[in-house]
Amino acid sequence: AKHDALSGLPNRQNMVEKVDEWLSESEVGRSGQHAVAAYVDIDRFKDINDTLGHEAGDTLIKAVAKRLRARLRADDFLARFGGDEFAVICQTADAEAGSARLAERIARSFEDPFAINGQNISVSASVGLAIAPEHGDTADQLMRHADIALYEAKKQGRDRAVAFSAEMAQEVELRRAIELDLRDAIDRGELRLL
Ligand code: GH3
Ligand code: MG
Repeated sequence: AKHDALSGLPNRQNMVEKVDEWLSESEVGRSGQHAVAAYVDIDRFKDINDTLGHEAGDTLIKAVAKRLRARLRADDFLARFGGDEFAVICQTADAEAGSARLAERIARSFEDPFAINGQNISVSASVGLAIAPEHGDTADQLMRHADIALYEAKKQGRDRAVAFSAEMAQEVELRRAIELDLRDAIDRGELRLL
C-alpha cells in the first residue's frame, strides 16, 4: 500500500507521511534546517505513449525512476505519484544551495537519452520546488506549493526548474476566484455576447 507497483518507489501516501514526520519531528524549522520538496513531471509524456505505445511509456517511467534514484543522494526521499509525476524531498542547511543542487541532480537525470525498445528517446522534465519552513510548515501546504511551482515551470515553457513564490499562489487564487465568479455569472445570466 506504500509503494508504486510499476517503479517500486514509495508512493504519494508514503511521501506525505515522510514529509509530515520531517516537518514535525525533525529539526526542520528549528536550528536553521530546511526541507526542499521537488515535483518532477516529464514533458510531453503523452507523445511517448501515443507514438511508441503504453508499454514503452511504462518502460520509460521505470528507467526515469532508476535514473533519478541513482543520481540522488541516499537520504533524499524519492516517490512516484502516478502518471509521469515524481517527487523528491531532501534536507539541507542552506535552502538556496540545497534546492539548486537538487534541481541540478534532477536535470542531470534527463541529460542522456533513454534506450527504449532499441531506440534512443530524449525527454525533458519540468520541476517545481518549495522549501520548508519558508513555503509551508505542513506536508499539505509544502506539496501544494511545489505543485503550483511545477505548473509555473510548465507555463514558462517546460524543461526547467522553478521555485515557488507567494505571487504564484496569489495568481492561482485569483484564477480560482474568477472561475467561481464566472460560474455565478452564468447561473445569473449575466454574460452576453457582443
Ligand atoms: P506535460 O508536458 O504538460 O506534462 O504533458 P504530458 O503529455 O506529459 O501530460 P501529463 O503530464 O498531463 O500526463 C501524463 C500522461 O501519462 C497521462 C497518461 O496518458 C499517461 N500515464 C499515466 N499513468 C501512466 C502509466 O502508468 N503508464 C503509461 N505508459 N502512461 C501513463
Ligand atoms: Mg507530463
